[in-house]
Amino acid sequence: MCATAAAPGRLEVIAGPMFAGKSEELLRRVRRAALAGIDTLVLTHAFDDRYAEGIATHTGDVMAAPAASDVEGLRALLAEHPDARVIALDEAQFFGAGLLPVVAELLDRGATVIVAGLAVTFDAEPFPPLPELMALADEVLRLSAVCAVCGRDAPLHQRLGAGEAASGAGEGLALTVDAVGGTESYQARCRLHHGR
Ligand SMILES: [Zn+2]
Repeated sequence: MCATAAAPGRLEVIAGPMFAGKSEELLRRVRRAALAGIDTLVLTHAFDDRYAEGIATHTGDVMAAPAASDVEGLRALLAEHPDARVIALDEAQFFGAGLLPVVAELLDRGATVIVAGLAVTFDAEPFPPLPELMALADEVLRLSAVCAVCGRDAPLHQRLGAGEAASGAGEGLALTVDAVGGTESYQARCRLHHGR
């Protein structure tokens, strides 16, 4: 073993359903790294690069972050910042399995990689590549949200039907623009109220 080897890479994963505060936790860790004087790069996903403004949390916090629409775009952004020691990536679920080799390369060069993303789909299935990233991580923080029906901890979220969305101004309701430009709405749910 080489005594002067670089520090080992470190993978931190922040996972959960929608409304669990994943982006807030990601930004908290980024700010700590920046305070420590570490060269930090924050990236996120956008279905369309023209709408790339940054990371906005449900509590209104915003941080500027370059966005990529796919893994190739992500590699291009990373190539522009070869000296970053902490790389934080939000919305990791949208990059798919192609994200795994990118993360592996960053870890190989000794970077700390902080990944936030959805652990579950709206129909309560594991959402790749978060399960794989969680398995490989040095540290996993699995967050829950608050069930919009009963207030219990919510490990899941679901997509609402058109009628529910029209009447729902309730806790944890989000309107999001989907990949084809339509509007969809979601709520956090406990296991008891998921799908009901
Ligand atoms: Zn519930």
